[in-house]
Amino acid sequence: MTAVIESEEHQALRSAVAALGRRYGRAYLTRTVAEGRPPAELWSEAGKLGYLGVSIPEEYGGGGGGIADLAIVLEELGAAGSPLLMLVVSPAICATVISRFGTEDQKRAWLPGIADGTRLMAFGITEPDAGSNSHRITTTARRDGADWLLTGRKVFVSGVDIADAVLIVGRTADARTGSLKPCLFIVPTDAEGFRKQPIDMELSAAEKQFELVLDDVRLPADALVGGGPSHASGSGGADAGLLQLFAGLNPERIMTAAFAIGMGRYALSKAVEYARDRTVWKAPIGAHQAIAHPLAQAHIDLELARLMTQKAAHLYDAGDDTGAGEAANMAKYAAAEACVKAVDQAVHTLGGNGLTREFGLASLITAARVARIAPVSREMILNYVSHQTLGLPKSY
Ligand SMILES: Cc1cc2nc3c(=O)[nH]c(=O)nc-3n(C[C@H](O)[C@H](O)[C@H](O)COP(=O)(O)OP(=O)(O)OC[C@H]3O[C@@H](n4cnc5c(N)ncnc54)[C@H](O)[C@@H]3O)c2cc1C
Repeated sequence: MTAVIESEEHQALRSAVAALGRRYGRAYLTRTVAEGRPPAELWSEAGKLGYLGVSIPEEYGGGGGGIADLAIVLEELGAAGSPLLMLVVSPAICATVISRFGTEDQKRAWLPGIADGTRLMAFGITEPDAGSNSHRITTTARRDGADWLLTGRKVFVSGVDIADAVLIVGRTADARTGSLKPCLFIVPTDAEGFRKQPIDMELSAAEKQFELVLDDVRLPADALVGGGPSHASGSGGADAGLLQLFAGLNPERIMTAAFAIGMGRYALSKAVEYARDRTVWKAPIGAHQAIAHPLAQAHIDLELARLMTQKAAHLYDAGDDTGAGEAANMAKYAAAEACVKAVDQAVHTLGGNGLTREFGLASLITAARVARIAPVSREMILNYVSHQTLGLPKSY
């Protein structure tokens, strides 16, 4: 795809990351999945080259760019067949929230390590009984002297086995009912009372998902990120927590869009390569419009989704959190749908080979669905646009 609206710097980043992606590629990722281990070599090399930290401020060891840069990194690695899912979480959500709202100590403790890849932070918001309705989360923090005690359950938290800590979204004890007044805690994965259980996923991915049980996990006061309930009076109040949460969730949606576009591009490129050569009549199958047109449509849909993603990233990096919210939701929707369609068409283009391990496309059918479900489902984005953008009434 051409990148006509990107700056020369962004284009240079794109081609440099693409070169790294090509050196690892699909074969590397398939190997790590088969061996049941994370893509540590690629993660570490991307860290050394500065790609994990592109959006982290320079004074904390990063590149001083924005989410637009980080989205390019993820998309290009994905287009090469070796996406790094934890980019969505550790640098995009956790580092962004910490660099925007964390204390100086928190920034010094986490940002340089996240930037160079030596430290990793997972993110836990989803709960078994809340799911899409984050207002119902019940993970609760209560004061015990100067400390906090955190209790609750989380589900589908990615990468906990390779993380040093999880940024957990909880709420305060006196806000158990009513609208969400979230607060964010940095919870070390070796804390007492913190238990993780891998979820058996039918997903061919290097990153694992976990259910977490937090049983009175004792945390020091400085485990709380930014202005939580202790700042409840005065400007912002506990709603400051909501602001902080969305400061992390918008990058998450933008990055999921980049993840989906990268995967869609990878699948499409494999299908095009195959359709150019495979001949069962007189001409290669790519000459049949029934094969060519859906691939052309997939390309157009991915390009459209990328434009929306670039817009969302631009708004976010320009400091327009409200504008970025709508744009990031719509970009994530568009990218997930484009990815699911591109993967489906790619598998179909390969005929029987679309389902063989040798060609490795069939597993993307499941992987592509992740972008449609997480971090916010297709329906919840349609609800958002119905209510927030179009002003239609709510059914729930
Ligand atoms: C691979 C993977 C990795 C993940 N990683 C993380 C992570 O690192 N951290 C984390 O916190 N979470 C993570 N998640 C969780 C993910 O964000 C949730 O799965 C997602 O938010 C949906 O929640 P749910 O699974 O509980 O579905 P539910 O909320 O139970 O929804 C089920 C279905 O009902 C539909 N639905 C629900 N409410 C409505 C409504 N009002 N109107 C119309 N339809 C509705 C949904 O669209 C969906 O299709 C991950 C999930 C996956 C699959």
